[in-house]
Amino acid sequence: MGEDRVKVLVVEDESSIRKFLSINLNREGFEVLEASSGEEALDIIKRVEPRVVVLDVMLPGIDGLEVCQSIRKAIPNIVIIMLTAKSQDMDKIMGLELGADDYMVKPFNPLEVIARIRANLRKIDNAKGQLSKTLVIGELELDLEAQKFYKRGLEIELTPIEFSLMRMFIENNNKAFSRDEILNIVWGKSYFGDMKTVDVHVRRIRGKIEDDPSNPHLIETVWGVGYRLRGEK
Ligand code: CA
Repeated sequence: MGEDRVKVLVVEDESSIRKFLSINLNREGFEVLEASSGEEALDIIKRVEPRVVVLDVMLPGIDGLEVCQSIRKAIPNIVIIMLTAKSQDMDKIMGLELGADDYMVKPFNPLEVIARIRANLRKIDNAKGQLSKTLVIGELELDLEAQKFYKRGLEIELTPIEFSLMRMFIENNNKAFSRDEILNIVWGKSYFGDMKTVDVHVRRIRGKIEDDPSNPHLIETVWGVGYRLRGEK
């Protein structure tokens, strides 16, 4: 059991935050390595090859952004999640091509960090074609084999009809569908239901997947047509 645990390196000089993350990662089955400075982190990376690094921006000595670049150079397919104290830093982190995969603004929920780690690991596995039964659009993921749906790495439970609807949308990102087409695809041609059925189900899915269901950004209403998914910003 021990040999296939995913190794995560946590780099943070504040020991309380480092320990807090460590404990939570351990509990979720990860093997955790800790570093309290960028130098220490780079040293560990030379010896062990973790699959994931959770890296604080504010570190004594070499800062997290520089460490991030060095790590990315050393291990191209490692997952790097940056921790930042300010939401403004995220533009810098994601925009400067430092090679970070994701970021979290402090204070963060450790379970969300873990969800991001899993989502990013899945992305890499998908790219390798190991889990080709997974469809990914932006922050949305559909695991066709396990019949599971995820947003930002967190599972959202869908009914079988909702799952079929999301599959139709994800397989056709940005395409607008009429209610009639949706009924045909999801419910089948022999279904003689009301087109309102589609609206009801779309509303339910929005309630589950939208950050603000009253102002949906994922499943958009296309006036005079029907609905479409805007899975990527
Ligand atoms: Ca720090």
